[in-house]
Amino acid sequence: MKNLILFGPPGSGKGTQSAKVAEKYNLAHISTGDIFRREISNETPLGKKVKDIINKGELVPDELLIDLLRNAIKQNRDVQGYIFDGFPRTIQQASDLDKLMKEFNMAVSKVLVLDVNEEEVVKRLLKRAELEGRSDDNEDVIRNRMGVYRTQTEPLIEYYSEKGLVSTIKGVGTIDDIFEFLCKEID
Ligand code: ADP
Repeated sequence: MKNLILFGPPGSGKGTQSAKVAEKYNLAHISTGDIFRREISNETPLGKKVKDIINKGELVPDELLIDLLRNAIKQNRDVQGYIFDGFPRTIQQASDLDKLMKEFNMAVSKVLVLDVNEEEVVKRLLKRAELEGRSDDNEDVIRNRMGVYRTQTEPLIEYYSEKGLVSTIKGVGTIDDIFEFLCKEID
């Protein structure tokens, strides 16, 4: 089993690259952002609970993630592994993921960090705001998401480095170039 975490700031291209990696290696692509957006558009109880949080650029409480992840894994068992996109985002979530992996007799194989500077990601997110109109892609919320990333999520690089699992990949260039860098690391 290949169980990968794709890691990087908002706008670093995690969603795009995860989908490509999932297809090539027959992995289930688990994007917590996509799951929440689907819940919001379907107006489910979970969607109603998280909508305001997401629109402010804050993190959804850790305890809401674990069951969601367990279900996503259970629903996708006929695969060669998983690629997690947007999860874990806090140290608590990383430790919850370790436990969850054990439940399924699995382990995290690698953490791929997409390295993109802040100026570039803010530029990309502002452009995405124009094109897609995602409700959390306006300038104030983008700055908040960047701050949340730096304080709560970036420390995970250290957490996984200590386990020897981190590879950093240059996240600037064409989509195909970056995909090639990623595949080299995965292979
Ligand atoms: P981004 O491009 O900002 O990384 P995502 O699509 O991954 O966007 O996530 C959008 C929002 O969904 C986040 O800003 C956060 O509010 C919520 N979210 C997604 N994944 C998580 C998570 N693992 N823990 C807490 N909140 C999350």
